[in-house]
Amino acid sequence: MGDAAHDTTPNMGQGACQAIEDAAVLLDELEKHPELELEQIFTRFEHRRISRTTMIVNRSWQMGRIAQLSQPGLVAFRDIAMRCIPNRVSLKQMENIYQTDF
Ligand SMILES: Cc1cc2nc3c(=O)[nH]c(=O)nc-3n(C[C@H](O)[C@H](O)[C@H](O)COP(=O)(O)OP(=O)(O)OC[C@H]3O[C@@H](n4cnc5c(N)ncnc54)[C@H](O)[C@@H]3O)c2cc1C
Repeated sequence: MGDAAHDTTPNMGQGACQAIEDAAVLLDELEKHPELELEQIFTRFEHRRISRTTMIVNRSWQMGRIAQLSQPGLVAFRDIAMRCIPNRVSLKQMENIYQTDF
């Protein structure tokens, strides 16, 4: 669970958030399936969590690559491009993260 399962770069501030979601999902599985062995619980847990945490790990890594560009031309292009992104696009990206039924 948490960083041990899906440590992420800090660019989205999601590491601890995902660890908390993990805890909530694991608790949910334990409460719903008291008859199952722990290994089976963790298999169900992984199934529920892997696509969301993988998406966040990958997106955070991509954001880090963009944030850490060092070539002046690319930095200038990035800074202009970032300013041009409409608010609705940024909000849509945030919705993907925060409006979820994990
Ligand atoms: C500078 C910084 C800023 C961050 N900012 C954010 C943010 O804004 N938002 C966000 O969501 N996340 C943020 N994170 C990420 C977040 O801190 C981690 O993702 C989160 O703490 C992971 O929780 P965890 O419980 O999985 O692991 P940890 O918090 O690392 O906890 C693991 C615990 O296990 C203990 N441990 C290790 N080995 C053993 C052992 N053998 N026996 C017993 N205990 C052991 C450790 O001492 C530790 O207490 C940030 C991280 C850093 C470093």
